[in-house]
Amino acid sequence: MFDLIIRRARAIDAEDVVFDLAIKDGLIAKIGQINAKARQEIDLNGRFYASAGWIDSHVHCYSASPIYNDEPDLVGIAGGVTTVIDAGSCGANDIGHFNQLAQACQTEVRALLNISRIGLATQHELADLADIDLAAADRAITQYPDFIVGLKARLSSSVVGGNGITPLKMAKAIQQQHPKLPLMVHVGNTPPDLDDITQMLDQGDILTHCYNGKPNRILNCSGTVRTSIYRAIERGVTLDVGHGGASFSFAVARQAIAQGVLPNTISSDIYCRNRIAGPVFGLAPVMAKFLSLGMTLAEVIQCVTAHPAQILHLTAKGRLEVGFAADISIFAVDSTDLVQSDCEGESLLCAQQFRPLAAIVAGKIFLTDEGKTEHVFNL
Ligand SMILES: [Zn+2]
Repeated sequence: MFDLIIRRARAIDAEDVVFDLAIKDGLIAKIGQINAKARQEIDLNGRFYASAGWIDSHVHCYSASPIYNDEPDLVGIAGGVTTVIDAGSCGANDIGHFNQLAQACQTEVRALLNISRIGLATQHELADLADIDLAAADRAITQYPDFIVGLKARLSSSVVGGNGITPLKMAKAIQQQHPKLPLMVHVGNTPPDLDDITQMLDQGDILTHCYNGKPNRILNCSGTVRTSIYRAIERGVTLDVGHGGASFSFAVARQAIAQGVLPNTISSDIYCRNRIAGPVFGLAPVMAKFLSLGMTLAEVIQCVTAHPAQILHLTAKGRLEVGFAADISIFAVDSTDLVQSDCEGESLLCAQQFRPLAAIVAGKIFLTDEGKTEHVFNL
């Protein structure tokens, strides 16, 4: 007897194909047409999609952070997202407290450790090199091996002060002790210059805010993608959207995508303020922007499932396959005429919108507010 069967879910990559999916003991137990019974069943009737659980690879959800805070379940299951990756809200000082808070959440939470031990206690956490405490970072990584899935360094002038590229060298020194951990680097106002940052990134590292509209963007002044970016991509560096309140430009994304530079991961950089007041609102609205920019549904879904799972080494997540975690997002794709904004004052008509209905985490169902109004979930 299965614990849960989801019947007649729409497939992402094939029109008019529906499938059943059975869950047992928090894992995906069977996929295809399923005649067996389960203790609980949901029939999606071919109306709604089921994908691997959405992973937002860049959020801020350490509720005790004085500047960029939110609650994991508000940026997670409330929006159909099953896993969130906090991108450096905490350094070694607070990561233990954050881990403790995260345990009490329904959303799966993982963290990128800020290389500064004070994390986002201030806006300029890398201005004092004494805060980049290699031994403290090393101890934290050793103590929380399941929680910490990577490192985070914010490399913009307002964060590093007069330290230029030095914090990045120190990040690399931490990473050398833990070579499996990807390093996510935030790019913002120069210095340091994007070319100098990018050339220090190695295979597996992540460049976030990849379509920011600031002068330190991935395009040169003639609008072509910088050579340093192409070289980084060839080396295996990945690009993360990290939309946020100031780091996403439709124009930059459009030009880069036209030159074949697509995002590897689509993420929100959400926290309470840009969740409530916009322009982020949630992962789903950010995903819809990329449909409008010409990516296919399957490509967009890959950027919030298989890709982040692979890049962040979240084993057993990111795919609908037998034996994988029963983390599943159920959603509709509706036709709308919603106008969405980037961070540069440009508006874009989004003809399609994702409407998340449920997040299933390790087999446990959490309905979104929208999901509660759909009778298929009368459980
Ligand atoms: Zn961020």
